[in-house]
This record gives sequence, structure tokens and C-alpha cells, in this order.
Amino acid sequence: MKLERITLTHVRIPLLEPFRISNGEVSEKDAILVRVEAGGIAGTGEASPMAGTFYSDDTPASVWKYLTERLIPAAFAAKAVSVASINRVLDRTGGSPFARAGLETAFWDLEARAAGTPLYQSLGGYNIPLESGLAVGITKGIPALIATIEKYLAEGYKRVKIKIEPGWDVGPLAEIRQRFGDIPLMVDANGAYGREDIPHLRLLDSFGLAMIEQPLPRNDLKGHAELQAAVKTPVCLDEGAEDAAAVRKAIRMKSCRIVNIKIQRVGGLANARAIHDICAEAGIPVWAGTMPELGIGAAQTLHLATLPGFAYPTDVESSARWFLDDVIEPLITVCGGKISIPAGAGNCYEPSVRAIDRFRVAERVFVP
Ligand code: MG
Repeated sequence: MKLERITLTHVRIPLLEPFRISNGEVSEKDAILVRVEAGGIAGTGEASPMAGTFYSDDTPASVWKYLTERLIPAAFAAKAVSVASINRVLDRTGGSPFARAGLETAFWDLEARAAGTPLYQSLGGYNIPLESGLAVGITKGIPALIATIEKYLAEGYKRVKIKIEPGWDVGPLAEIRQRFGDIPLMVDANGAYGREDIPHLRLLDSFGLAMIEQPLPRNDLKGHAELQAAVKTPVCLDEGAEDAAAVRKAIRMKSCRIVNIKIQRVGGLANARAIHDICAEAGIPVWAGTMPELGIGAAQTLHLATLPGFAYPTDVESSARWFLDDVIEPLITVCGGKISIPAGAGNCYEPSVRAIDRFRVAERVFVP
């Protein structure tokens, strides 16, 4: 097999509602689709940074530049055609986990399609329907939050996650418990609190939450350990679990009892699986988070979430939850709170030529 062509397509799809977290807001979803062709077969990946730098340093523009100037030339120079060979290239190059994830996941899809097998099989998972959780951003007032949860809970989502920040935590949680009883519930602060808030965060113990996700800034593993010692609720790391070394350190320091694994944040499926394995060995349950990505990235997250250490509902929701349209066929749908991966090879969803044509903002083709 020979690496024949790589195509980058920047797509931008309007969100149905703005997504607001503690440190920023977006109203459109940008993604860079990476199509890798070898031996007459195509595999597709997705690099899916947020439009602002409020989740990570990577943006659509920086990812495009890094893929164009560094990663794609390096892939051609190394004549990469397999997951193993592209990971050797990416380990040497370093940098930009989102760009890396876009290219690396395309090779996983390519390799599985060439073998005629589904991606979860390459990863070591089993095709089981996956529980899906509803995520709701920070809304303008509690009635809007309650209305959003009510609207989507009708689809059967298996838990609710709300974004919190100082001033938007115990109030909304009390209202949710009052209105929806003991539904599985968790919160995500995207690092909005500080160690000085630990006494306040202890109040969250009274809400019976499944976990508190990334309460403190990403690098404050010591603060998370102090918090975890002070609260009964499990602390979960997201931004702070940026690579295998950080996860090992967090486990050693007792900074968390749960880890959120995002393919984008950790730079691809091989790294994501390695973090899963480290956590499994330490008895730390994990779950699969999202940016959220468009359908290509979401599908890959579903395959990853079939591994045995994934113990909580995934953040992958139906395509219609956030986006005006999606770039795959069929669309991802939640049925009775669960998502089933369709039969097929690779990521088991096909890129939608129609949708990609409609939402393309830039495209560039690379050949050897
Ligand atoms: Mg998070």
C-alpha cells in the first residue's frame, strides 16, 4: 500500500444553540476533516478544536497550519500507511494534540476499512449499545436550564451533566433535584474554581453527584488532591488529564477518582487507549468525553467507549442535539438513551458528500 493523497476540509456548521462554558461561548462548530487515501481506500479523521482558545491552545487556524506545514509533509516523508507508522511520525513531531488526532484517527479508519473490520475491534472493544449522557451549557437563568433538560431528557439520556462556575452551582443543582428527582447528575467546571473555593465545593456533596469534573485549573493536581480529600463526590479530570504522564501523576497524587478521556485532547486513539489502560490498571474508571465533535470524531469516540474501562455514559449525543446538520451518514441517533454503532468497517459511518459540500469553508489536497 502507498500513501496516495491527503485532503483537508475545513467545515463550519451552525450550532442550534450557543454552547457556553465557564470561560467562553461558541455559536458555530468548526472542524477539519482529514481524508487519507492509500491502496484505493480512504479513511477519515476529524481535528475538532473549539473556535476560541478557551478549552485548549489549539484553534481551527492553528490546527490547519500545523497539519499543512508539519504533520502532512512528515507523513509523506515517512511513507506512513499504518496506525503504527503514523504514530511514530507524530511522536517525533510532537505538538498540537488536535491536529495530531485528526491525522491519527484517519489512519485508524483507513486500516480498519482495509481489513474490512469495525474500528472497535482494532481497539479491543466489543459492540454494545453505549449509554449517552446529556450535556447542558450555562444558560441565561434557571428556567432555561430546566426547559433544556426537560426537552432532551425525553430522548432517554442516561444522565445529565451541567456546566458550572462560581455563582452558578448550588442554585441550579437544587432546582434540578427538586424538578427531576434522583436522575444521574454530574457537573463540569472547566477549571473555573480555585483552591480557596474548596469549602464551597464541599456543599456539592449534598446533591449526590456522580462526579465533579475539572473543578480547578488544569495544572493544579495538588489542589485537586486537596479537594478530593475534602469531598465525598469523586473528582474527575478532563483538561488536566492531557497525556499519559499527567494521568500517572494524578493517580499517584490521588487528584481524582475518575478520568474523562477525549481523543482530541490526548492527540488520537493510541494515546486515548494507553490512558484507558493506565487507569484500568490503577482501578480508576474512565468515560469518553467530547468537544463536542462532528460525526466523524463522535463515531470514533463511540468505538473507543466500547473498551471495558469506560464505566459512565459518554458525552456523545445525537447529531441533532447540537448541530444544524452533520457530516456523516447515517446520523448518530440516541434510542432509549443508548447509541448503537451500525454494522460496517472502519468507523462504520460514511462521510456525507452533501453535507461536506454545503458546509465547506476551505479545502486543500496534498500528494507525494
Ligand atoms: Mg469537561
